Amino acid sequence: MKDLNKYKGMLLEERAKLEKELSDLGIMDPETGDWGAYQSEAGEANVSDKNDAADFDEDFLTRANTLGEIEKRYIDVKNALAKIERADGSFGKCEVSGKDIEEDRLDANPAARACKEHMNN
Ligand SMILES: [Zn+2]
Repeated sequence: MKDLNKYKGMLLEERAKLEKELSDLGIMDPETGDWGAYQSEAGEANVSDKNDAADFDEDFLTRANTLGEIEKRYIDVKNALAKIERADGSFGKCEVSGKDIEEDRLDANPAARACKEHMNN
């Protein structure tokens, strides 16, 4: 029997951490729930300087990439929490084979969506 409360606690903790990281990097569109990276204020002020503008673009792209990675993880965490809330037994089941996800895998990553056999699909 899986300890859902334990995983829920881990997921809530991670969700709070990810929300903090997301809000440091960008802002959420309240209509779509999607996150977008902040534009740099310094970059806008120096748009006439070509070198600074290039730096600004690079910073923005780096920030947008990092934000995208964090957002992917954030969505997995939210989906895992939703499965626990639904209490329909879907949490901890492989989305590919429908088998139980190994407990050591869930302990390492409670937002896992697939068992070890299918984790790279
Ligand atoms: Zn599987």
